[in-house]
Amino acid sequence: MRKVNLFLSAILLFSLSCGREFNIHTIETTRLAMDTVVQISIFYSEPLNPKAREALEAAFKTIDEIEQLTSTYQDSSEVSRVNRLAGKQFQRVSPQLIQVITEAQKVSELSNGAFDITVAPLLRLWNFHSENHRLPSDTEIAEKQPLVNYKNILIQGDEIGFQRPGMGLDLGGIAKGYAIDQAIKVLQDYGIKDAMVNAGGDLRTISSPLTRGKRKVWIRHPRNKGQFFGYFKMDTGSVATSGDYERFFMVDSVRYHHILDPKTGFPAGKCISATIQTDTAIRADALATAVFVLGPEEGMKLIERLPDVEGVIIYETRDKLEWKVSEGLVKTLKVLTK
Ligand code: ADP
Ligand code: MG
Repeated sequence: MRKVNLFLSAILLFSLSCGREFNIHTIETTRLAMDTVVQISIFYSEPLNPKAREALEAAFKTIDEIEQLTSTYQDSSEVSRVNRLAGKQFQRVSPQLIQVITEAQKVSELSNGAFDITVAPLLRLWNFHSENHRLPSDTEIAEKQPLVNYKNILIQGDEIGFQRPGMGLDLGGIAKGYAIDQAIKVLQDYGIKDAMVNAGGDLRTISSPLTRGKRKVWIRHPRNKGQFFGYFKMDTGSVATSGDYERFFMVDSVRYHHILDPKTGFPAGKCISATIQTDTAIRADALATAVFVLGPEEGMKLIERLPDVEGVIIYETRDKLEWKVSEGLVKTLKVLTK
């Protein structure tokens, strides 16, 4: 049985101070896709763009198509096909998949391998996404580790191959971001100016004067369910969060979650959550996973090194919650946690 992730790590709300002079209307659809809850909202003042409902449908269709390419749960997906033949022969894949893999490799380079889509053989040992998750032995992990290295993905034109048999791709840390970007693009092609696509708490917005200055992104508290860590204002941009609280299992009071440190084969232990804000959702999604693995020190160094990237890293020292906020967010982030 596959478990769908129903937890939203960030949500977007309008500021209560927006006043009555602005009449913001919304049409909105929520569906299960990309293994989570996807909500697409269009904001408008009368009259509604006559194509708005068609735009919503088209955006969801695009997300479904991307899931068909990138999902590791669907045997029929392009990635599953690639994984079945990994290391045996080069395979032609769609340009979208090449685009996602190329972007993933850039984030791998930036994070010195903390983000690595070739973690698939290790993830299979853990089986986080099923009821049958388990704690693998050190020997099992050591056996799979040589198969994990993003540098061993070979791209030749529209074909992809692997340096070693047994390698595999897992796009769980980046595909959702890509799907969000493509959905926004579809909305824009329909002339939609003000909208949000939220996939399980990773989101992207576009804005018009109608909503400008009135949107707040709320970051969930990573430990206290139903509470918020804080919020910041955002008109246009993307936010993604990686956390240890979304998919995990406990063994002897130890939390084992779904983000692996490729260097150890075990769940990355330095952070509780990493939230990234930047232009595109694909970048935000992959960087959130990368920064989560790197930990508060190295992760924040990476955020500060990258122009147009901001972030909040939450971690624990001796059971006490601590956080680091990047320079560009310090003034705008309102922390509600003490
Ligand atoms: P979520 O999917 O819950 O939003 P993330 O974006 O952080 O969280 O993605 C986590 C997923 O990324 C995992 O479920 C797995 O599929 C994949 N993954 C795990 N560890 C890594 C890693 N070190 N690099 C790249 N992808 C990873
Ligand atoms: Mg991610």
